[in-house]
Amino acid sequence: MVSMAPEAIRPATNWAGNVTYRAARLHRPASVAELQDVLAGSDRVKALGSRHCFNDIADTTSDLVLLDGLDTGVEVERSPGGDGGVVWVPGGMPYSHLVPRLAEHGCALHNLASLPHITVAGATATGTHGSGNRNGSLSTSVVGLDLVRSDGEVVTLLHGDPDFAGAVVHLGALGVVTRIGLRFQPAFQVRNTVYTGLTWDRLVTDFQAVTDAAYSVSVFTDWHEVSQVWVKSRTDEPDVAPEDFFGARAATVPTHMLKDTPVENLTEQLGVPGEWHERLPHFRTGFTPSNGDELQTEYFVPRRHVAEACAALRSLAPRIAPLLQISELRTVAADDLWLSPAHDADVLALHFTWLPDEAGVRALLPEIEAALRPYGARPHWGKLFTTGADELERAYPRMPDFRALVRRFDARGAFRNDFLDRTVAAFG
Ligand SMILES: Cc1cc2nc3c(=O)[nH]c(=O)nc-3n(C[C@H](O)[C@H](O)[C@H](O)COP(=O)(O)OP(=O)(O)OC[C@H]3O[C@@H](n4cnc5c(N)ncnc54)[C@H](O)[C@@H]3O)c2cc1C
Repeated sequence: MVSMAPEAIRPATNWAGNVTYRAARLHRPASVAELQDVLAGSDRVKALGSRHCFNDIADTTSDLVLLDGLDTGVEVERSPGGDGGVVWVPGGMPYSHLVPRLAEHGCALHNLASLPHITVAGATATGTHGSGNRNGSLSTSVVGLDLVRSDGEVVTLLHGDPDFAGAVVHLGALGVVTRIGLRFQPAFQVRNTVYTGLTWDRLVTDFQAVTDAAYSVSVFTDWHEVSQVWVKSRTDEPDVAPEDFFGARAATVPTHMLKDTPVENLTEQLGVPGEWHERLPHFRTGFTPSNGDELQTEYFVPRRHVAEACAALRSLAPRIAPLLQISELRTVAADDLWLSPAHDADVLALHFTWLPDEAGVRALLPEIEAALRPYGARPHWGKLFTTGADELERAYPRMPDFRALVRRFDARGAFRNDFLDRTVAAFG
């Protein structure tokens, strides 16, 4: 029996407010046994992270499970040399809780997303990423998972196990992740310098050099012009030229990626060195908006298509402009995870922060997707897209293997939802 009464779902929407969860009940299990009871009693169930996805990936009809009460503890395993190791954390823990604790012990993750408030399990389930030519997505730091399947069995998957590469970016389709192991390294310091005035020609011609210039580089654009380049360099690596960056100039005051927006919520700029977790995210940890006034979309193309993909989107600039707040270009290193948007390819990530006009955005997305189709674009699993199952099948060579994994892990289809039916599809 479930020992705690399910709650009405509050808040009933995702962070952006564009998805209203349809589940009848919300559960907050305090132990794995309670979670197993919830799963046993549900025909359709999903784990819910911090609700930061922009689509119905976390939606279901019967039961949602929040893991904020399931504390499996934080356990650090240092590698024999002592310079890194693995930290095991509860799946429902947000990075904003984890990273200060790691930093206190002189440890760092290799990268972070633009905001730290997302849960480790929710972020790694969708291939969430930061930037950097040498940096894989956040999912690539996962070395192990404990997950509870819909039949109640607790499965531990470790790096090297045959199912592991299929199970890390799992879209919530395999089970509920209760504990997750992340590789860490010694802490490092980062400085962020913002540059303005880079031309499109220079960006495209020198793209490899621009993005190789520092540990993590983000380019902001409205597709008419390149507005800013955020260059986040490690202090233990050579700094880029402080004044002239491929013809761009270093900003002399803190600069928001959105025009006329106060800067106090941003992490520090102007090249001032700081701890990795206080520079890699764009937004400060203390800044926690409980909901957002924006929508997001992102597509990934192999980096060799940078020039063509950017030209295709620039030709759509007049169509994009009325709906766009800002676009951001980042890079992600290739990995071997089956459903990772960077599977087997170093990718350019083309991100759009939209005004909160979902109908308008949805009407435009097919045009953007058609423009990027020749370059094999893969959508971000957690953001808005209309790419269908046939195209996803072509984009992901391991999709049939993933489908077989889902059938094996969730034989009764308890974790299936409309999102999975539209994207992974054909469960048989
Ligand atoms: C303001 C903002 C900024 C963002 N910045 C970035 C960015 O820089 N880079 C980027 O790549 N993305 C970014 N995103 C997208 C977002 O981080 C991802 O989509 C991420 O997956 C959200 O994590 P979550 O914890 O909110 O998961 P949710 O949205 O709650 O859930 C996501 C999926 O994970 C599953 N899930 C969650 N917890 C578990 C669990 N314990 N076990 C099994 N399955 C689980 C859910 O069922 C669902 O399928 C941003 C989003 C917002 C709102």
